[in-house]
Amino acid sequence: MARELIRRSLPSGRTARVVMSEITDGDAATGDVTIGGPDDASTDAKGWTRPWTLLDQVHGDGVVVVDAAGAHSGTRADAAVTSVVDVPLAIRVADCVPVAFLGDRCVGVAHAGWRGLKAGILERTVEAMKGLDGITPVIAVVGPHIGACCYEFGDADLDDLAGLFGSSIRSTTTAGRPALDLSSALSGILVGAGIPMIHDGACTSCDDRYWSFRASATARRQAMVAWTEEG
Ligand SMILES: [Zn+2]
Repeated sequence: MARELIRRSLPSGRTARVVMSEITDGDAATGDVTIGGPDDASTDAKGWTRPWTLLDQVHGDGVVVVDAAGAHSGTRADAAVTSVVDVPLAIRVADCVPVAFLGDRCVGVAHAGWRGLKAGILERTVEAMKGLDGITPVIAVVGPHIGACCYEFGDADLDDLAGLFGSSIRSTTTAGRPALDLSSALSGILVGAGIPMIHDGACTSCDDRYWSFRASATARRQAMVAWTEEG
């Protein structure tokens, strides 16, 4: 059952909402997924009511500015921002980190695995939000992603990422193997940008509500969906 990660009034008076789908809501990889949407009407990726923007995510730093429901679907990018109400933006994940940004009038979403973090996807998304709103996002919401408990990582790659994000990204799996702590890298970037973070904390590999590529090499995905409403 899809879970609302946040519902919050923005400085402009609009309301921002961020919802995370689960396995029981369907497969976002194929677009066959439904959650409760604006005005509690059903919304889904196929757009019977309000089409989502579903990107062709490539672990890069591309950000699209979306001005109508469903616009830019299929665009090769890893983040989307909008200042238009009732325009749902979706990120599809199965271990990578889905991040939503809430601004003054805007929302943004980003797909942030370790490659995207290296590429600067969070910084690019924040820049795009500032371009629309004129202010730094007021909060970031970090959805379920693979935890260090399950994210065994090679020493050479850990050395590389520690050089970029600091040694706190080094962790250990529950089995005692070297691991990457993605949330540490994220929080370093967000603290540096002056953006408070709400972290969901669920591990997609441990938690059976979610698909995990590491756990099962699945092609299926859950979705984080964010939009704004008037009032
Ligand atoms: Zn885990």
